Amino acid sequence: MAQRDTIPWVCWRGLSSGATSTEESTPVDESNSKRVLLLARSGGNREQLLAHLQQHYTVIEPDETTHFLASFDLAVVEAPTFWQWRHHLIEAKRREEPVFLPVMLVLSQRDVRRRLKAFWDVVDEFVVAPINRSEFTERAAMLLRTRRLALTQRAHLAYLVNHDRATDLPNKHLFMDRLINAVRDATVLDTKLYMMVVHIPLARILKSLGHHGLERAALACSVRLKALLAEELSLARLTTEEWGLILRPGTPLDTVLELCRRIQMLAEEPLMVLGERIHFSPRIGIGVYPDDASNAANTLDCAIAALSQAKSEQPVFYSRTVQHQALRHIRTEARLHQALDEAQFELWYQPQVRLSDRQQVGVEALIRWRLPCGSLVSPKDFMAVAESTGLIRDIDRWVLKHACEAMRRWRNGNNPPKRISVNVSAEDIKAADFAEVVVRILDQNQLPPPTLELELTETTLFEISAENLAKLNTLREYGVSVAIDDFGTGYSSLSYLHRLPITTLKIDKAFVDDVTHNLTNQAITRTIVWLAKNFNLEVIAEGIETVEQARYLKSLEVHTGQGFLYGHPVPETLFHQ
Ligand code: C2E
Ligand code: MG
Ligand code: MG
Repeated sequence: MAQRDTIPWVCWRGLSSGATSTEESTPVDESNSKRVLLLARSGGNREQLLAHLQQHYTVIEPDETTHFLASFDLAVVEAPTFWQWRHHLIEAKRREEPVFLPVMLVLSQRDVRRRLKAFWDVVDEFVVAPINRSEFTERAAMLLRTRRLALTQRAHLAYLVNHDRATDLPNKHLFMDRLINAVRDATVLDTKLYMMVVHIPLARILKSLGHHGLERAALACSVRLKALLAEELSLARLTTEEWGLILRPGTPLDTVLELCRRIQMLAEEPLMVLGERIHFSPRIGIGVYPDDASNAANTLDCAIAALSQAKSEQPVFYSRTVQHQALRHIRTEARLHQALDEAQFELWYQPQVRLSDRQQVGVEALIRWRLPCGSLVSPKDFMAVAESTGLIRDIDRWVLKHACEAMRRWRNGNNPPKRISVNVSAEDIKAADFAEVVVRILDQNQLPPPTLELELTETTLFEISAENLAKLNTLREYGVSVAIDDFGTGYSSLSYLHRLPITTLKIDKAFVDDVTHNLTNQAITRTIVWLAKNFNLEVIAEGIETVEQARYLKSLEVHTGQGFLYGHPVPETLFHQ
């Protein structure tokens, strides 16, 4: 298990000693720490009031020259001086809102009868001069007690607003305040500030152990992180699954990496939540001020962007490249919508041939995106965006329709290909009407079902539910072929092969590339061919570029091949059969 010793350099409270605006304000204690502002002129009641107040409180009197009012908990103001200070008192009360800041007026019996109304908007209590000492001190104490309650409430509310209930850690709100301070300190010190976002995948616990389980797991994670960092000050829970961490400005990079390593080690021991063992693996994204961003909010954004790139336990640092990738994603998405609306997609076709005599047996439809500037975009540059945004469904339907229409045209001519292969994604199959749409398009183009092959990757097959698999079964029974594309690069769990409605395995180009020299690739290819034979499946080798590759694959009894050796993907007008 990981060492649990603490890392002192992460315990950092910032350069400024005062609490920030959203930090918990500590209610001022009773007695001498209470500050009472006395606004009275010498000669009147001042000396007497001063004597009473000084016994219990710290008395402050204003600087007559600057008219500056220091902060106070109670103002005692004599009627003759009231008008001079009225504006300042209103301002002080407004600043304290919604917390009660009491003002007590000292006035004569005659003024109580005649003028009290004039003070109502500022004054909360009054005493009559000549002053009865016990009455005055009682009233002052009552006002201060009310103020103390208000301060306690404010502190409590501030705590609730700034902390995560499940873990008692600061929440994102308070974390941002601390990050802003840390960035300011780093600027003054002219040094780097590292901040990290640690992602611990807990949301899945919700399904199995409910909210209670989730909160317990979050607490357990927080305890481990806190123990590592000595104290929680730089640690916060930002979202259900994300913790934020601010390091001391000037912390060297190797120390940052050491901390990451220790965070990863925390996961070596599973969490025990409601009697269940929960395994978890944190991912870490890191933003650096001022290298990545010029302010606190953007530094946090950078750490989050970096986190989205973190696939393994290695921490990922934000860089401009990451930001550029994120921006590219957003822009590509917007352009893809436009591309669908404005028919900017094209279908290109690549032949599949019988290796023994190069006779064309099939054709794969591959999408291309032609930008308004005329340039072509390859699917690998936009498929990820299309998949993550759900646009893939519309795109693939477009492909299916146009591929089947091309097939109909070829079948009306001479020597048509026997089959057209179309790539489909998990999103397509999830659509309720997937099977009906395929059947409808085949019907509309008068294509016998065996003339269509759907290509799915292993990952897609794994992602889809039993219900969706049933749709593939229906299509298979209808006569449509189903191929596993890029076979061998996904999960490669062989146990599923017999359960899936598949007809074809496509050996990925990665294995074909150096199949003539690389012993591992030879072994993999041989195994795939052997599997296909045993499961009675067809095999197609993808990405054949050389005669040697073709010869070798033929010797392994691979019957069908696809690759530049036989033809590049081309538009329909250039596709000769
Ligand atoms: P894939 O389905 O495995 O397609 C094979 C890819 O290999 C194609 O790239 C093809 O142009 C390329 N290729 C074929 N022979 C050779 C060769 O001899 N050498 C080399 N270097 N490359 C070769 P492409 O067209 O860029 O497509 C990439 C991937 O994008 C496809 O891989 C497929 O997964 C996806 N894709 C393409 N069109 C569609 C589509 O309409 N829908 C979906 N969902 N995915 C598509
Ligand atoms: Mg394919
Ligand atoms: Mg492939």
